[in-house]
Amino acid sequence: MKCMVKLEAISKRYGEIAALDNVDLEIREKEVLTLLGPNGSGKTTLLRIIAFIDSPTNGDLLFDGERIYDGNKVMARKKCTMVFQRAALFNSTVYKNIAYGLKLRGCSKRETKEKVGEALALAKLQGYEKRYAKKLSGGEQQRVSLARALALNTQLLLLDEPTANLDPKNASIIEETISFVNREFGTTIVAATHNIFQAEILTDRVGLLLAGRLAQVGPPHEVLRGPSTGLASFARLENIFSGNSKILPEGTSIIEADGGLKIESATRKSGKVTVFVMPEDIIVSERAILSSARNVFRGKIVDVSDLGSIVKLRVAARRDFVVQVTKRSFVEMRLNVGSLVFLTFKASSVHHV
Ligand code: ATP
Repeated sequence: MKCMVKLEAISKRYGEIAALDNVDLEIREKEVLTLLGPNGSGKTTLLRIIAFIDSPTNGDLLFDGERIYDGNKVMARKKCTMVFQRAALFNSTVYKNIAYGLKLRGCSKRETKEKVGEALALAKLQGYEKRYAKKLSGGEQQRVSLARALALNTQLLLLDEPTANLDPKNASIIEETISFVNREFGTTIVAATHNIFQAEILTDRVGLLLAGRLAQVGPPHEVLRGPSTGLASFARLENIFSGNSKILPEGTSIIEADGGLKIESATRKSGKVTVFVMPEDIIVSERAILSSARNVFRGKIVDVSDLGSIVKLRVAARRDFVVQVTKRSFVEMRLNVGSLVFLTFKASSVHHV
């Protein structure tokens, strides 16, 4: 895929704070790239630089092979739109909010009407035209912000935490819209998130940003599943266990972690180790299942968080595990807080840090 935006050794300092440190990144045409990282890791800073809103302290930025500097920044800015984390809407109707950017770009009334209509449909906001944007719920306001950006139909769309703090319904509408515009119109999308599930569901590539450095970039299965010190240090990653590992005669290892938890790993290693298991590698079942998987635990669901098409569960077994199931399975299995479940995963799903 052709490179659309190239960042070369980008650094950004705010006084003593190094918000970004020597970031090299290529954004490819028609891809969805998520920037995954904990709070304060530099995601917003990076998006603002890619949007040509802020200039880097050091480094170069190229758009379609052309170096961007102050003199041609305005031209480059027209090729992309950024949706900010907190919707900044005008105290006016939804229609006027979405039409504003089009007006600035000199669209005729007819063209504006057509484009606003299309954007409303994309964000599933038909019928909201006359409502006051500021009176809508947080999630609906976020969809208006997205619709406002979509109406401009730029090649590059930058989204800062598009679903942070939203209810599941609005979050899944936004996720579906993002996938739709990428698939149907070939819009290149870069989205910042600290939601590991979203990074996996939405994207072609994930860039892991830790303390201003781009620790890893690649397809989700490589970045999110492979053994990676960077990923494990990402504070929100769950299912991390430390303990003493012993090699078993059959070639695997058994790790004894706190709380009497014993995990079997396919990696032969002895001594003190830290391992992690990705939530999606854990099978949730109502009864113990007969399988070749070496790790089976019984536990109780203690927390449920609905992420739209996926539901994340916290299960108290000997230790807390975080697992994910599809919404459909969640409903069909009638799971809820208090349900007793079995968790099953393979020894080969236990990754060493
Ligand atoms: P969050 O998920 O909390 O939004 P983030 O990953 O988007 O975080 P940034 O907002 O890019 O992180 O911030 C990176 C670092 O730069 C932080 O330490 C932040 O405090 C600092 N920073 C960002 N903007 C400014 C600013 N305008 N002035 C001073 N420091 C800033």
